[in-house]
Amino acid sequence: MNQAGNLAYDVFVNDPPPQDGFLPNGEPKRFSPMASTLIYGSEDAVLTDPGMTADQAHALGDWVAGKGRNVTDIFITHGHGDHWFAAGLLAERFGARVVASAGTITQMHGSVATRPLLWDKLYQGIPPSPVTGMTVPDNRFTLEGHDLVIVDVGHADADDNSVLHVPDLGLVIAGDVIYNGVHMYLAQSAVGGFRPWRDAIDKVEALGPRHIVCGHQNERLDDDAKRTIEQTRQYLDDADELLRTENTAVGYFNAKIERYPDHLGRLILWVTARALYGVRERPGENPAQITLSSWL
Ligand SMILES: [Zn+2]
Repeated sequence: MNQAGNLAYDVFVNDPPPQDGFLPNGEPKRFSPMASTLIYGSEDAVLTDPGMTADQAHALGDWVAGKGRNVTDIFITHGHGDHWFAAGLLAERFGARVVASAGTITQMHGSVATRPLLWDKLYQGIPPSPVTGMTVPDNRFTLEGHDLVIVDVGHADADDNSVLHVPDLGLVIAGDVIYNGVHMYLAQSAVGGFRPWRDAIDKVEALGPRHIVCGHQNERLDDDAKRTIEQTRQYLDDADELLRTENTAVGYFNAKIERYPDHLGRLILWVTARALYGVRERPGENPAQITLSSWL
C-alpha cells in the first residue's frame, strides 16, 4: 500500500488459470501472474485490469470488497483478453463503469473475435465478455478530485497500448508496456521489431513515475519505476541479441531462461519464441496466424 493524502493504491496479483500441456523443458504450461490495482480515496475506488476467468474475478472481487470502498470505474489498459475478459463480472458486482481508450476498445473487439480460436481453447471458465468499455473526455477521469489520466503509448505487447497515470501518487499503471520479473510477450513484435515498444517505454518514463504497477509482475518484487523501466529495456536488448545468436526457438527459450532464471511466465517465453522464429522461418505465411498457432 502506498499513500498520498487521502489517496492510496494497493495491488492484487492473481494466480494464472490451470492449463494443459508442457513446455520444451518438461515444465507444465502456465500463464503469467496477473496484477490488478485498486486506487482508492476515503470512499471511492478505481480498479484496473480485472483479469480473465470467473475464478480470478471472484478472488479479486473478494479482495476489493474487503477494502470497503465504492468502486466507480474499472480501467482497462489494452485489448488482450487476459486483462479484461472478467471485467463484466466485476462491473456488475460493484456497479462500476468500464473505462478505456478508444484504441483499447477497438482492440477489445478483436480479442472477442479471437476468443474461440485461442482463449477458450486454453482456459476454462472465461465469462461472457461483451465490450462495454467507454471512453472519457480528453482521456481523463477523477477519483475524489484526483486526476487519473489515460495515456496512449502505441504498440508494445499489443497494438494501441495505454497506461494510467496518477500524478498525485507518482504512479503509472503500465499494463504490458513495462514488466516486473515476468517474461515479456514479444510475439506481436515479430514484424517491425522492438522500436515501437522502446518508444512506448520512453513515453512512460517521460511521465516521471516513482511507482509502476505492471500487468504481469512477481508479487515479491517492489514497484520501483526506475528499476522496472531499466529491466524492461534490458529484456528487449537481450531479445535482440539472442535473436541474432540463437538459431532455433528452443535455443532462444533455453538461453532466456539461463539469463533470467527467476523470471515467471515461461509459457509466454515459449509462445514468444515460437512466434518470433516462426515468422522468421516462414516468411510467406500470415504472421497473425503463426502467432495464434504458437499458443496452441
Ligand atoms: Zn497481459
